[in-house]
Amino acid sequence: MDLSPHTRAAFPALHQSVNGKPLVYLDNAATMQKPRSVIDALVHYYERDNSNVHRGLHALSMRATNAYEGARARVARFIGAAAPAEIIFTRGTTESVNLVAQAWGRAHLRAGDVVLTTQMEHHGNLVPWQQVARETGAMLRAVPLLGENGEGGLDLAALDSLLTPQVKLFAFTHVSNTLGTINPAAELCAKARAVGALTLVDAAQSAGHQPLDVRELGCDFLAFSGHKMCGPTGIGVLYARLPILENMAPYETGGGMVSTVTYEEATWKPSPERFEAGTPNIAGAIGLAAACDYLDSVGREKIAAHSHALGQLACERLAQLPGIRLLGPPAGVERSGIVSFALADVHAHDVVTFADEDGLALRGGHHCNQPLMHKLGLTSTTRASFSLYNSAEEIDVLVASLRRIQSFFGCQ
Ligand code: PMP
Repeated sequence: MDLSPHTRAAFPALHQSVNGKPLVYLDNAATMQKPRSVIDALVHYYERDNSNVHRGLHALSMRATNAYEGARARVARFIGAAAPAEIIFTRGTTESVNLVAQAWGRAHLRAGDVVLTTQMEHHGNLVPWQQVARETGAMLRAVPLLGENGEGGLDLAALDSLLTPQVKLFAFTHVSNTLGTINPAAELCAKARAVGALTLVDAAQSAGHQPLDVRELGCDFLAFSGHKMCGPTGIGVLYARLPILENMAPYETGGGMVSTVTYEEATWKPSPERFEAGTPNIAGAIGLAAACDYLDSVGREKIAAHSHALGQLACERLAQLPGIRLLGPPAGVERSGIVSFALADVHAHDVVTFADEDGLALRGGHHCNQPLMHKLGLTSTTRASFSLYNSAEEIDVLVASLRRIQSFFGCQ
C-alpha cells in the first residue's frame, strides 16, 4: 500500500525545492523529517509549559513534569516495556550504548570475558565496547558476515561457535544502517540467553520503521534515537530490564539523581532518575512521545510494509544500472528501506553531489561502518534510505539521476 499520499502532507520540510527541483529526501537512515504534530508539541511546550521538571511545585513545573513523565510512559508502551522506570532518556543511541558500556560493562566485565558484536555494527555500537574492553581486559569478538557484498547476513553457524560461556554480552544491530539487513533479533537474543549472556539491541534503524516490542525480542538492553523516528534531535532512549537497572551504578552524577547528599558522599535514587543527572531534555522527550503517537497513528506494520517494499523496488531498479555493486540482501530477500551501492569509477561523494543538483538527498561515505567497508573492500558507498513518506516515483528520480551521473562520468 502506498502510504506517501497520506503521510507527505504531514511533513512541512518535504514541500520545498532544492536546486530548482522538488526535494526527494532519501537520507532517512541519517535522520528523518518531522511531522507537524511533533513540531507543534515542541512549540506548545515552549510556549506554555516550559519549566524545569521534578523540583518545582508551581503550575508550569507540574505541567512540564507530567508531560515529561507522560512521555516516558508513552515510550514504554511504544516498545512494550514492563514499566516506565525501564525507560531512560539519553541524547541518542550513542549515549545509550555508552551508558551500558560504562555503567554495566565496567562493573561486570573481567579479563577473559567476551563482548560479542557483529561485523555490521555502526561505530556507535562498537567503539564504546572497544573502550570498555581495554579498561577491563575483556575481549571483543564479532560475528562474521556472509557473502562478498554482505548479502548472506550474519553467519549463524559461526555465532553458535562464538557463543561460549565467556560471552557476557551480545551487542548487535537490529537493522544494518549500511546493508539494510534485518537481523533475526529474537533468535539472536534467545541464542545468547542460552549461554547466560545479556543482549543489547541497537534499534536505531528499526524503531521508526517497524513494530518493536522488547518482550517479543527478549533483549536485556535496547537503544534508539528520537531523530531517526520522526522525533527531535538530542533525545534518545535506553531501555533496560528493571532488575538490571536496580543493580547498576550511575553513569553520570549530579543533581536530580541523588537521594541524600553530604559533603562526603551521596546515595542514589532508583531508576530512571539514577541515570538522568542534571536537567533532562524535556522538550525532546515530549517531542519523542508525539513521534510515537504519529508513527502509531499511521501504523508501524504499514510503515514497515511500505518502506521495505520501496527498498525492494529500489534494489530491482538499481540492479539494471551498468557497473553497479549493490550491497546487502539480494532482490527478493526481505530487507529494510536502506539500500547501499557503489558505482564503478564514481566516488560516492561525487554521486551525492551530482544527485543534489537533481533535488535528491542521498548519503555517501562510510556511514560510521569503517570495519564493514574494509571487509567489503570499499572506502565508501552511496546510500538511499526510504521511509513512510517516500514513493515509487522518487525511485524514478533516483534512477534517472544515477543514469545522468553515469553518462557524465562516461560509464555506460
Ligand atoms: N546505530 C546505528 C545502526 C545507526 O544507524 C546510528 C546512526 N546512524 C547510530 C547507532 C548512532 O545514532 P546517534 O547518532 O543518533 O546516536
